[in-house]
Amino acid sequence: MLSGRFAPRHVLLFLAKYAYLTAARKPILVNFEVTLRCNARCGFCDYWQTDPGARDHEVASFAAAARFFNPLMITFTGGEPTLRRDLEALVAAVAQAVRLKYIALLTHGGTLSVERAWSLWQAGVNQFNISLDYLDGRHDAARGIPGLTDRILSNVVAMRARGIDSIRFNTVIRDDNLDQLLPIVHRAAELGVGVNFSTYTALKNGNSAYVLHPERAADLDSTIAALLAYKRRRRGVITSSDYYLAQVPRYVRGEMTAPCRSGIRTIHVTPTGHVKRCPDFPTDGHWQAFRPYEPIGCNACFYACRGEAEAPVRLSRVLDVMA
Ligand code: SF4
Ligand code: SF4
Repeated sequence: MLSGRFAPRHVLLFLAKYAYLTAARKPILVNFEVTLRCNARCGFCDYWQTDPGARDHEVASFAAAARFFNPLMITFTGGEPTLRRDLEALVAAVAQAVRLKYIALLTHGGTLSVERAWSLWQAGVNQFNISLDYLDGRHDAARGIPGLTDRILSNVVAMRARGIDSIRFNTVIRDDNLDQLLPIVHRAAELGVGVNFSTYTALKNGNSAYVLHPERAADLDSTIAALLAYKRRRRGVITSSDYYLAQVPRYVRGEMTAPCRSGIRTIHVTPTGHVKRCPDFPTDGHWQAFRPYEPIGCNACFYACRGEAEAPVRLSRVLDVMA
């Protein structure tokens, strides 16, 4: 599900760049964490407790880092990236620095007005990823933002009407939202947007209340089977790979033992310009001193950024992108 800004020939160019970056052992995806500040109140992440003074140490541009890594995919994330008033300038500079790229913005959506979305779209954002873990009041409660779910759903309609044609819900599979996954997919289909799944861990602040344990694996099996069946009937709504979805129950059962390859295909650059192999690991130095990562014996998460990086490029994956 690519933005209509891109023609089918771009998919061939993307595949060529993907092959080049893979052969050169360079990251395909660079996540720019433009701030760790956040105005939500999640119980499973402490970024909202970041000292407001951290703003003084946030770098003014990620363009040089983007030029250095020259990735295929770029995500602006946080914290809550829309808290940066200069986000449009950050996006535009990175868009200018990398010739062939796809830029996504990850947001909780609580402070994303249609006007701000349009201005970011014009600055170079190709896709908005908006967190949505439930369709009911549980999402507002989980994020600590009253009215958030309604705001997201109505904003998505208005953003689509404005001409923003690539929006995805980022939905984290948690112990208490298995009943919500298919309804979120159906709502996304009605709205003309996609759904990208990831899997909950307690890594952010140790909150294990939503961790899926092996005793839930049977429920998870049937939920994942329903999602895969949906994908077979209709491609382009669920944007997670078949591979990733199929591995989630294996992860929950503890059957995944291979070293994690995070940092090889995806890296994170912090607000101060330092690099880490994945969202929840410490930094390893400034991007100017970057050294390629090796696989690591860690199995602490099955975030999408880990699992999707391991997904083989099969026909189903290409069909997902083209749908
Ligand atoms: S999970 Fe996202 S929305 Fe919640 S506090 Fe962390 S950065 Fe903010
Ligand atoms: S499994 Fe990989 S991505 Fe997850 S926390 Fe460990 S090193 Fe990071």
